[in-house]
Amino acid sequence: MSTLDSGKIESLKNDLAGTVILPSDREYDEARKIWNGMVDKRPAIIARCSDTQDVVRALSFARDTGIRLAVKGAGHHIAGNSLCDDGLVIDLSQMRAVKVDSNAKRTTAQGGATLADLDAATQAHGLATPLGINSTTGIAGLTLGGGFGWLSRKYGMTVDNLESAEVVTAKGDVVRASANENPDLFWALRGGSGNFGVVTAFEFRLHTVGPGLLSGLIVYPFDDARSVLRQYRDFVSQAPAELSVWTVLRKAPPLPFLPAEVHGKEVVVLALLYAGDPEKGEQAIAPLRAFNSPVGEHVGVQPYTDWQKAFDPLLTPGARNYWKSHNFTKIDDGLIDVVMKYVNTLPSPECEVFFGSIGCATKQPATDATAYPHRDAEYVMNVHGRWQTEEEDKRCIQWSREYFEASAPFASSGAYVNFLTEDEVDRVRSAYGQNYDRLAAVKKKYDPDNLFRVNMNIKPA
Ligand SMILES: Cc1cc2nc3c(=O)[nH]c(=O)nc-3n(C[C@H](O)[C@H](O)[C@H](O)COP(=O)(O)OP(=O)(O)OC[C@H]3O[C@@H](n4cnc5c(N)ncnc54)[C@H](O)[C@@H]3O)c2cc1C
Repeated sequence: MSTLDSGKIESLKNDLAGTVILPSDREYDEARKIWNGMVDKRPAIIARCSDTQDVVRALSFARDTGIRLAVKGAGHHIAGNSLCDDGLVIDLSQMRAVKVDSNAKRTTAQGGATLADLDAATQAHGLATPLGINSTTGIAGLTLGGGFGWLSRKYGMTVDNLESAEVVTAKGDVVRASANENPDLFWALRGGSGNFGVVTAFEFRLHTVGPGLLSGLIVYPFDDARSVLRQYRDFVSQAPAELSVWTVLRKAPPLPFLPAEVHGKEVVVLALLYAGDPEKGEQAIAPLRAFNSPVGEHVGVQPYTDWQKAFDPLLTPGARNYWKSHNFTKIDDGLIDVVMKYVNTLPSPECEVFFGSIGCATKQPATDATAYPHRDAEYVMNVHGRWQTEEEDKRCIQWSREYFEASAPFASSGAYVNFLTEDEVDRVRSAYGQNYDRLAAVKKKYDPDNLFRVNMNIKPA
């Protein structure tokens, strides 16, 4: 850092109500850790903001000094775009407040809130909005990329429930975006990822949910996988919007309800939630138990907030992760063959393949209603490569890539922007699909110099 820079950094420190963390600070290494343990970036400055004005100051510092800018929600994006080398990171981890207006069925969350923060606040009123399946994920990245989870078949993508946002633009202006205020920006935020500004607050519509919901796991042996997957796809095509069933194929973790001899063996897990009356849910899920003979089951009525955390122990931060994903409109027999082949050769006990089932409400809006374009998707498949040591990198990454290539002929076009890895620059355009050009025009209006470029980047038109 030059002397001039040091002086500027000093004044940034004085200006910020939050904290400025530098490489020489004790907290630095902890502050630059994100969910994916493979990401090892060294920002010059981490500006841990306390409020919207802090965000304005930190952003202005980056813009005026010409230093690279990254924005960190909860740091879960696999590509590690919440950090940058040698630049400034706007870290929103201290901005996690959530307010609920239960009469209006609305909630407002600050830009650094996690899914757990939002679910806890809204479920206190028996309300919820569709979010993802891992409670430590950030609301910000999840929403800006689309967002789907257990409630999406019933209530749509997370973006479909966004009512408004408070945004700090590249100029440093604080603006609101909604159907009536800056509607072009509002459209772009709903799927255009972090390209248009720093969102300091999200306002969502809420729905009556739970608090107790039928949810859990039904586990089949891998020997039955082909038959289970075929029955699964037929079942899902008829299932009510209230019922979400995702398939996870992996080596069984030592879950207490599974017999010891199954631990560490390949299994097919049907993970489910019924977003309605649990008795109706019991009827709806009955066929899932009769696909074959399950090796274990753990299904019951539990608080929605508990189910939202059920996968957290398998998704702890710090492991090495490499993902590949496709969207599918259907599961062909040929795809099942590919699944069988690659799940037979899982390169680590933590690698898995999942099919997240969406559809129903997520398909209702037109492709250009929001920037998120993949309205034809019935399934989002994630090849979740996950392991612990650097020595395993090559083997596990290769497995993920090969599986991805082999399954590509069965995929629909496009990719989910929230699952793209750093090396998938060639897929960025298809992640925004037919909305890319319109997004580029909005980008030109709100961020002509591409200040927000550490992301799945849309170039200004
Ligand atoms: C374990 C795990 C489980 C997941 N499960 C699901 C799931 O069920 N459903 C689903 O849809 N997705 C899921 N995802 C993907 C998730 O939606 C993305 O990783 C998302 O980007 C995470 O948001 P974040 O705020 O934590 O990300 P970050 O890594 O902090 O940010 C991601 C991107 O958004 C930008 N950004 C962050 N905050 C802001 C802000 N306030 N304003 C503007 N830009 C911002 C960043 O600059 C970056 O480009 C999962 C991810 C993980 C790691």
